[in-house]
Amino acid sequence: MALSSSVYNAEPIPEAARAEVEALLASGDLFRYTAQADAPVSLLERDFAAFMGSRFALAVNSCSSAIFLSLRALGVAPGQEVLIPAFTFAAVPSAIVHAGARPVLVEVGENYRIDLEDFRAKLHAGTGAVVISHMRGHTSDMDAIMEMADALGVPVVEDAAHSLGTLWQGRKIGTIGRVGCLSFQSYKLVNGGEGGILITDDEDVFAQAVIMSGAYEHNWKKHPALTARFAAHQNALPLYNMRMNNLSAAVIRPQIAEIDRRVRQGRENHDHVAEALNSSPWIDVPPAMPKEQRAPDSLQFNLVGFTDAEARDFMDATAAAGVGVQIFGMAADNARAFWNWRFLGDTPDLPRTRAMLMRACDTRLPARLTRAELDAIAGAILAAAEAIKGEQRAFGT
Ligand SMILES: *Cc1c(COP(=O)(O)O)cnc(C)c1O
Repeated sequence: MALSSSVYNAEPIPEAARAEVEALLASGDLFRYTAQADAPVSLLERDFAAFMGSRFALAVNSCSSAIFLSLRALGVAPGQEVLIPAFTFAAVPSAIVHAGARPVLVEVGENYRIDLEDFRAKLHAGTGAVVISHMRGHTSDMDAIMEMADALGVPVVEDAAHSLGTLWQGRKIGTIGRVGCLSFQSYKLVNGGEGGILITDDEDVFAQAVIMSGAYEHNWKKHPALTARFAAHQNALPLYNMRMNNLSAAVIRPQIAEIDRRVRQGRENHDHVAEALNSSPWIDVPPAMPKEQRAPDSLQFNLVGFTDAEARDFMDATAAAGVGVQIFGMAADNARAFWNWRFLGDTPDLPRTRAMLMRACDTRLPARLTRAELDAIAGAILAAAEAIKGEQRAFGT
């Protein structure tokens, strides 16, 4: 039975966005700094900071821009090393290159989290910063990372692009590092088409990021009052123009009220399908970390005991059943496979991450799916694994 392709459609944007979008279209007031106060982008920043419990938020045009601005505001120098997990999205090393720094890739384990031994080996007092991508919402051990980075005075940026709503020992992911960066691109929990936001409690990092995002002249007066800090950086920093526009903010802000429900539904859906898949000897869904309460909107699992050819057959069999499963390291030109980041020049071989990517499967699991749709997805995945590996078990090869 093939699933309807509509199972992967997005949720509608909340009705509350429509009136605000209509008003913006009528007034033509799309630029964040035109209104004297309470522009939609400013209201989004106020509400999102309150939701996360952060002192400051700066909305920009993407999470990648937020990461770039973080590194510039933290004073990462040209050529300095920035540690990232080798399992992340290509835009992350790209943001580091954009900031003039040098990405250093750290091994990632079978559970999609950063390998702490390799992290410790590659981190040193001269490291410019660490950017921890909680890839697909899988949280790396933030206690261990903060302890090692703090001991050497290296600032930590959390790339929580895909982790909105995740808790680490009750703390919101994105608020543990010096800066947190999140995404509102359509495949994330909050769908703005495109968009990102930087959160921090650090006044100076915030003031610099505001100016560099494009708060030219005295537009910084429309941000929380840090007058002395803004004045000190006025004209001393480049203006990269990465601002968010009011239409995006009008679409994003009403979704803040939906986050808790989406997180709850996403977790229930994920855990339901994960439990079904873990009944198979050919599939392993790594568990959450003990300190982590996850907010998944997709599912990752590892194929166990498959050859490369069998893994390819598995991808084809799930596709034929209408379930979009990609093996990160096998789908052509996948942007999450580090060996495809040729813009970096020679990347080191990272055998642990490579082995994981060659068996780790990725499938979307939007929060709004019904139990019947979830069961159909789980059933198709289990059937594909059984069709390829089951015969071998029966005939003992
Ligand atoms: C989506 C994503 C990004 C990039 O976000 P944009 O808003 O599209 O720039 C970065 N890191 C991770 C882990 C992501 O999932």
